[in-house]
Amino acid sequence: MMHFSCDFCGKDMTPEGTGRYVLKMEAYAANDPTELTDADLEEDHVEEMARILCELEENDEEPELLPVCKKMRFDLCASCYRKFVRDPLGRENSAKFDFSPN
Ligand SMILES: [Zn+2]
Repeated sequence: MMHFSCDFCGKDMTPEGTGRYVLKMEAYAANDPTELTDADLEEDHVEEMARILCELEENDEEPELLPVCKKMRFDLCASCYRKFVRDPLGRENSAKFDFSPN
């Protein structure tokens, strides 16, 4: 028997009849270098890109470690699924946090 638990809250979803929802996410860089046009290669853009690359090098993060494409799959319980479809990026919660008097 397969065991399922909610990837968000950890709730056990194994018992039969418990609602289980699958969330699939795919993230990838939108800038494809092979799609550069002549306009992209104009001098201004090259300088701009050089500046951006320079800024990236100064950053502590290492952008080259980012995966080109990342596919994720989550199992959600009914309540986490409901929360996700209402607010996929959690913006509602962070807004509440910002407006908190404390
Ligand atoms: Zn859950």
